[in-house]
Amino acid sequence: MGDIYVIGHKNPDTDSICSAIAYAYFKGENVVAARCGEINAETSYVLEYFDLDPPILISDGSGKRFILVDHNELSQSVDNMDQAEILEVIDHHKINFSYSSPIIFHTEPVGSTATMIAERYIGKIKRKIAGILLSAILSDTIVLTSTTTTERDFEMVKKLAPIAGIEDIKMFGMKVNRKKSNLKGLTASQIILSDFKDFEFGEDKVGIGQIRVVDFRESEERMDELMQELEKLKDKNNYSLLSFMVVNIVERASKLFVVGDRSKAEEAFKKPVKDNSLYLDGAMSRKKDVVPFIERVFR
Ligand code: MG
Ligand code: MG
Ligand code: MG
Repeated sequence: MGDIYVIGHKNPDTDSICSAIAYAYFKGENVVAARCGEINAETSYVLEYFDLDPPILISDGSGKRFILVDHNELSQSVDNMDQAEILEVIDHHKINFSYSSPIIFHTEPVGSTATMIAERYIGKIKRKIAGILLSAILSDTIVLTSTTTTERDFEMVKKLAPIAGIEDIKMFGMKVNRKKSNLKGLTASQIILSDFKDFEFGEDKVGIGQIRVVDFRESEERMDELMQELEKLKDKNNYSLLSFMVVNIVERASKLFVVGDRSKAEEAFKKPVKDNSLYLDGAMSRKKDVVPFIERVFR
């Protein structure tokens, strides 16, 4: 039997990449970290900081064996996952998964997959792995401020930081998060797809991308291009609704730009679209503050 690959979602974020590396490391020799997309600027910074290589790139899952981390929806997984063998899932998202044989399926409502892996191995974690797990928690929870953050994320950050040699957690966390919010030098398409997820709600296909900014002006400057790109992407891939979430991590609010059946978005959040977007006070998390509301109107 060949290798087992630990793999996160498409358009991988720091949690998907770092959880795959850490879990593969602890699972042993024939378990290898993988990814199914390009490393973003934030993750690249983290891997360089802790001197670790990116996981190997896999673009076709067929015939391979996998452990899924940081996702459980096959629409977000490597292509042809339906022709692969899935051995295990470790994740912190809503469940949209079914499988033909019994497997290990572990999800918990915590701020990151890295939190779950850190809890499992905390006594054995050395500097580099502590560093990437810490980074993944600080990324997914926006330095422990996102609405998804739990006590357990705080606990793990407190334990991992000294092992990783990080003294100022807030400063390090902001530095990590800022890497992803630099829109300069990126095309509109790269901005939309850098953290993008597909969802299937019954017959309807919904796509939701997100970026984080410290000032809404950063995205407003590019808004005409971004809206054009959203329209193009919607037509090309037949989305019923396509949205783009700009999370302002200072204001603790989001603007949700929508194309397609806007009435669904208006119904979901009970307010009208203004200037192409919905202003959502307090919304910081796609999975907690956006997806459940949209899913409800499609079901
Ligand atoms: Mg993720
Ligand atoms: Mg995650
Ligand atoms: Mg994430």
